[in-house]
Amino acid sequence: MKIDIVSVFPEYFEVMNLSLMGKAQAKGLLEIKAHNLRDWTHDVHHSVDDTPVGGGAGMVMKPEVWSECLDELLGFSQPSGSPAPSGAPVLIFPNPSAPLFTQRDATELSHADHLLFGCGRYEGYDARIPDYYRAQGVDVREYSIGDYVLNGGEVAVSVMLEAITRLMPGFMGNPDSIVEESYTGEGALLEHRQYTKPAVWRGIAVPDVLLSGDHGKVDRFRRDEALARTAEIRPDLIAALDCKALDKADRKTLMALGWEVSATHPRRLAD
Ligand code: SAM
Repeated sequence: MKIDIVSVFPEYFEVMNLSLMGKAQAKGLLEIKAHNLRDWTHDVHHSVDDTPVGGGAGMVMKPEVWSECLDELLGFSQPSGSPAPSGAPVLIFPNPSAPLFTQRDATELSHADHLLFGCGRYEGYDARIPDYYRAQGVDVREYSIGDYVLNGGEVAVSVMLEAITRLMPGFMGNPDSIVEESYTGEGALLEHRQYTKPAVWRGIAVPDVLLSGDHGKVDRFRRDEALARTAEIRPDLIAALDCKALDKADRKTLMALGWEVSATHPRRLAD
């Protein structure tokens, strides 16, 4: 997968050379290139921002600089009116006022050949930029990584990239480690709790069943714990389950937790 990132702080992405992301680059699975947006400016100050039209605090990223940069990285030979080049990357802008980025988005994007991220700064980027490229036929996405505001898009891009790239075939040493994770697949739940050795640490023992060697019992214990944790922390995920996909033991557990499981989706009885 090819990944281009545009930022006024491209050095930020030097961390991508570390750990699993660095190994994936060394193996040729990933090719990450960070570009400095200021390389597409023409003025002596290399300015990328201007005051907001309509007034207000802060500065907004200028569309002209972004469009020169994006036309080149997207492969548009003519700046306007030309259709999106075939094989153009998916263009992604982090934005706190956009829909939330989820594991489902990460899974979908892990199959892309080429992603291009544009990091906002200041009060953000001129709203016409994503609109313009959408109208040109580019697959443009805007995502928030959570209900809080960061100084810039660099951290958000790093978060999305970690989530996307670890799902690429060949990225993880042990591919099984991504199969049963939180938020993963149909019927996604929060994961059960994890333990390692020693069996007793500072007087706290791991649950006996995990030492029993009985895989059936271990699986059931973990599944029940996942259902209980999800019901407590993210009841919205329980309410989204398909009751037909629940087995008898799942239903029993959910009923004991106060959920009704006879309709299409579980419903909390207290509601
Ligand atoms: N004025 C904007 C607002 O209130 O929605 C905040 C702009 S923020 C200071 C600057 C840039 O940081 C944004 O353009 C975006 O690229 C990035 N950013 C900040 N918070 C983010 C979040 N929760 N998710 C994704 N990107 C975020």
